[in-house]
Amino acid sequence: MAKIQAHRISVIAGDGIGPEVIREGLKVLNKVSKKLKRPLEFEHLEVGAARWLRTKETLTEKEMETIIASDAVYLGAVGDPKVPPGILERDVLLKIRFELDLYINLRPCVLLEGAFTPLKNKGSSDINFIVVRENSESVYTGLGGVFKRGTPDEVAIQEDINTRKGVDRILDYAFEVCEARKNKNQITMVDKANVLTHAHGLWRRAFEEMGKSYPRIKRNATYVDAAAMDFVRRPEMFDVVVTNNIFGDILTDLGAIISGGLGLAASANINDLPSPDLPKKGQVCRGLFEPIHGSAPDIAGRNLANPIAAIMAAKMMLDHLSETEAASAIDKAVRKTVAGGKIFKKDSPDLAVSTHEAGDQVCSYL
Ligand code: ATP
Repeated sequence: MAKIQAHRISVIAGDGIGPEVIREGLKVLNKVSKKLKRPLEFEHLEVGAARWLRTKETLTEKEMETIIASDAVYLGAVGDPKVPPGILERDVLLKIRFELDLYINLRPCVLLEGAFTPLKNKGSSDINFIVVRENSESVYTGLGGVFKRGTPDEVAIQEDINTRKGVDRILDYAFEVCEARKNKNQITMVDKANVLTHAHGLWRRAFEEMGKSYPRIKRNATYVDAAAMDFVRRPEMFDVVVTNNIFGDILTDLGAIISGGLGLAASANINDLPSPDLPKKGQVCRGLFEPIHGSAPDIAGRNLANPIAAIMAAKMMLDHLSETEAASAIDKAVRKTVAGGKIFKKDSPDLAVSTHEAGDQVCSYL
């Protein structure tokens, strides 16, 4: 009988708490393996600050080839105070996102029963939305430059790229997510169209036009400052939020903190392109899955990091690989763990147990 082909996963545990939380994620994936249609095969890549400090290598060509040929990437965090800011972000995270055209960044903001929110009088039924962040344009493309660096006349320009194609495809995806959720059928676009009239004027026009194809979905466009206030004041008004790259980056840290803290927040960087439209020769990979937090050097190596965000990123990866039974088993196990009330300190997003013990608790429900 022919051997069942495995899902090939490139693993970048990375720096700081990255390896600690990825270890727990892999433990959970291993525990759930009996529910998989196809086994998982992991290739561990030594990408991150430690190697950069030794060799000045970020992501080698060979590693990029491995990633391109994988079914998905599972990443902990990269970054270290000893590495100048921007190097690993640009040459690892942004490189993978841009070169593979992972133009969709999904960031659920869901307050699980038993998790702590700093918002008074808000509960799980109030905080249940998803942010669909554009992931391939905006100021993150690195276009621009510095003139007369280091002088009093220094000029720094960083271009904000917004293309009609880029805006249309993320809006279309967000409307589809909204229909599929069958929740409030409500989409909120976040922009700053009152000031960035050219760039976000394009978003507004595209949103109105796209919305006509989705008559069942209520649409609302709001400015980013108002959205930041409403994430705190009335999070229950959100169902699907769609926004550009930089606003999505910032707002989802706020979204994380109202829904249990950075230790619970996972994200998927994906695309839904047909194979002939994938940008890289031989590209199979359409997804990178990671917790939204960084390497958290302040707590690294102390068994203090919450692994649930990394475990939920693994769950999103399984959904992406159409392993829905295993993904839903992880989701249920995480919900039971959080609802059990034993892993958090009282009224706090901080763990009351170690990273290992939190991972073990999730496994115990699988
Ligand atoms: P980056 O710039 O890559 O986002 P950072 O160090 O500025 O990295 P994070 O690593 O995201 O920011 O974390 C900010 C703080 O939140 C950390 O210093 C840490 O105290 C806390 N934190 C982040 N992730 C976790 C986690 N999984 N468990 C517990 N605390 C966390």
